[in-house]
Amino acid sequence: MLKIINCPHPTLRHVSKPIQRVDKKLKLMVEEMFELMYESNGIGLAANQVDLPFQLVVINPTGERKSKEERVLINPIVQLPKGNSEAEEGCLSIPGVYGKVVRPAEVHVMAYDLSGNKMDEVVGGTLARVIQHEFDHLQGVLFPDRMTEAARRSIEGELAAFTLEFEAMRKQDDGLLEANIKKRLAALEAEYC
Ligand code: ZN
Repeated sequence: MLKIINCPHPTLRHVSKPIQRVDKKLKLMVEEMFELMYESNGIGLAANQVDLPFQLVVINPTGERKSKEERVLINPIVQLPKGNSEAEEGCLSIPGVYGKVVRPAEVHVMAYDLSGNKMDEVVGGTLARVIQHEFDHLQGVLFPDRMTEAARRSIEGELAAFTLEFEAMRKQDDGLLEANIKKRLAALEAEYC
């Protein structure tokens, strides 16, 4: 049973590891990720947003269940950025918070799907933005990190509220929260990476 974790959960800053093997359990995790993404009206979700340490993202720019636009990107590489575009972004791990982010308008993406098929494509528009946002997650980068300092200041209060919520959760856990997270991630990496 996966669930979406909120900022500033430490797994959101974890640098994800490449996946070496795909099995039935991993496929089920991917199904669950799509389900969580649709339930939250999202168009992309990275593995560390559900407390998993893998280089894995699910994407569907239409946000509509079962559409042909569903993509699973395993071990993605994003390169050759071209142009610039600014748009408002949000994140399922920082629900309700939005901000303008400038990103390259076009990128070259290489990745694998669950069947081992290779994606090797130049993408633009919303798909390029979603892929870059999710690729950032895998490096432990969140969209406010990409905002200008002035723009980030306008959402500081909202981010602080998430920190307070997390600190309250940490207190209930007798200081074991971080250690338990590390142990879980290490076990999953040993199994798949
Ligand atoms: Zn996000």
